[in-house]
Amino acid sequence: MPELPEVETTRRGLAPHVEGRRVTGVVLRRPDLRWPIPYDIVETLPGQRIEQVRRRAKYLLLDTAAGSALLHLGMSGSLRVLPADTPLRAHDHVDLALDSGQVLRFNDPRRFGCLLWQPAGQMHELLRDLGPEPLSDAFDGDYLFARSRKRAAPVKTFLMDQKVVVGVGNIYAAEALFAAGISPLREAGKVSRERYAALADAVKAILGHAIARGGTTLRDFISPDGAPGYFEQELSAYGRGGEPCPRCGRPLKQASIGQRASVWCGHCQR
Ligand SMILES: [Zn+2]
Repeated sequence: MPELPEVETTRRGLAPHVEGRRVTGVVLRRPDLRWPIPYDIVETLPGQRIEQVRRRAKYLLLDTAAGSALLHLGMSGSLRVLPADTPLRAHDHVDLALDSGQVLRFNDPRRFGCLLWQPAGQMHELLRDLGPEPLSDAFDGDYLFARSRKRAAPVKTFLMDQKVVVGVGNIYAAEALFAAGISPLREAGKVSRERYAALADAVKAILGHAIARGGTTLRDFISPDGAPGYFEQELSAYGRGGEPCPRCGRPLKQASIGQRASVWCGHCQR
């Protein structure tokens, strides 16, 4: 599933091909993805110039003067910029034709992605109530500390709450908690300010590293024959239950926390 680093890499890959381009037409090969595609996408978007490609959480926004096309890659979605006459593949659901002669093509086998419309001056309900971006200055140890007081939920569940911070999914939560030496089961309200500072730093470092690595795969996101290329992860904890802890060699524990598979070291993470 595309996580925040893949979405950010997609944004960076698309921007030079899409920004400044006018949408000349929209082809919907089915009326819905996860949700029905709104009429504005075919009625309002054509003729508009895409001013910039933005990312908020795992959403991409194509900003125009009239409003923004709001895209989510879901579980299996990918976007490519292609010559307009490129033959279709299975699950190529949407084309946005551009005045460059290229199309922005959305492929999504499982159709958990979406293409929605946000009118200018409004914020789509999916974007309301989202926490800060993990790579922004607003996200730090002081913020996590203040936000977590009196919260009895496990710290891993707290960290994955999109109202607390966006884009820290199951993999990155497990890795950041491992790096910071914090047990995922610890009550969020009982983690110290100092340890939250270490956790925020770990989240930034791990996501930043993944985005930097993604830069080397940018070509795959836009080339006609490229696969979406979700990143190979160098993982210390996630998915490694029962294997030796990379730090102390004891077997990693595995359990479900907040209905999500979780792996951690009972010795290194307290
Ligand atoms: Zn260990």
